[in-house]
Amino acid sequence: MQLASLKLNPRADNRIRAGHMWIYSNEVDNKSTPLKGFSAGEQVVVVSADGRAMGVAILSPNSLICARMISRSDKQQLTRKLIKRRLQDAIALREMHYSDDSYRLCFGDSDGLPGLVVDRFMNTVVIQISNPAMENLKDEIVDVLDHLLEPNTIVLKNDGKMRPVEGLPVYVDVVKGELDEGFARFVENGVQFDAPVLEGQKTGWFFDHRDSRAHLKNYVQGKRVLDVFSYIGGWGVQAAAFGASEVICLDSSEFALECVARNAVLNGVDDRMSTIQADAFVGLKALADQKEKFDVVVLDPPALIARRKDIKVGEKAYQKLNQLALRLVDANGFLVTASCSMHLDRDRLVNIVQASARQVDRTVQIVEQGHQALDHPIHPAIAETEYIKCLFARSLKSW
Ligand code: SAH
Repeated sequence: MQLASLKLNPRADNRIRAGHMWIYSNEVDNKSTPLKGFSAGEQVVVVSADGRAMGVAILSPNSLICARMISRSDKQQLTRKLIKRRLQDAIALREMHYSDDSYRLCFGDSDGLPGLVVDRFMNTVVIQISNPAMENLKDEIVDVLDHLLEPNTIVLKNDGKMRPVEGLPVYVDVVKGELDEGFARFVENGVQFDAPVLEGQKTGWFFDHRDSRAHLKNYVQGKRVLDVFSYIGGWGVQAAAFGASEVICLDSSEFALECVARNAVLNGVDDRMSTIQADAFVGLKALADQKEKFDVVVLDPPALIARRKDIKVGEKAYQKLNQLALRLVDANGFLVTASCSMHLDRDRLVNIVQASARQVDRTVQIVEQGHQALDHPIHPAIAETEYIKCLFARSLKSW
């Protein structure tokens, strides 16, 4: 099928030529090729102002990022065949590193499939689609994954925040097989979990910290651990399974804490685990008032800086939380502090930990720095694909 052209403004092709894959709506020559004339999800040949074809892009005509390149050949459209090839490449990378059939199988732009996230929980595959072109191909995506992996269960978890913005319906659909009470069983770092695929956040689990969580092993044996913003126990249950003497998971969500209890039982560590349902700011202060101390405090909050304009307020929140958490860390204990905010630079997180240490009169040593796991590869031209930071900071009596 012959594709229509999308013409760019002068110089707007430079960024694409340099490797970026996104086109913003103000970069389009709206006189020659008005965005209004295209349908959502349409594929187009992107053409520079001087008439050179640059490749094929998929369109979201009503969004700020109105087109995403999927190929630098004007002949290569997004088809079942291309999706299959890119998913095979994606699976090969994960299989190099992880032997537990549990991983982020596809990380959108970074795997050459913008708007497509796939998490694999052993025999369950969870798909999240966030743009109209991928939505148009959802049956093909399901079919390819079914062929490649032959999973028992496939879920379309299409309830992301961006879907209404893209004009897409919000729905969750189990398209193959079934889920036991809405959960998918899987393994991370040798520890078993049930992820609440249907009712949980995102796909039900956050694989992005898996490599850092594996490093907990060296810090928690025989120790008392607090997991703040625990969700369903990603860090906390692993700490207990790695031999912590006591783990408390703190989260504001009752449902998340019910899942912590379920995952504790699953691993036979429920006798060493308990939960506190509280707002983190309030709960941390209450623990400090009770003079509680922990050998390890994990602080892995949701993104506290959603947009660039929230940086100031968000950094204050990180500072406050790190300060509260550090107060609870015993002498020579560890604060494991994380951020998934793309807008918080690693250097700023280091500064925040340093400032927090001064506030509570401690000296800290940063002994390890964690990054997003290998199943979240970074696209070197797209800064947004790098977002996870994690510091293992040792807390000492002030020097
Ligand atoms: N650490 C988790 C991921 C955190 S997801 C992991 O490794 O999987 C964010 C969690 O923070 C959610 O479970 C949400 O319920 C919780 N949350 C959000 N705001 C909160 C607040 N103010 N106080 C406590 N928990 C909060």
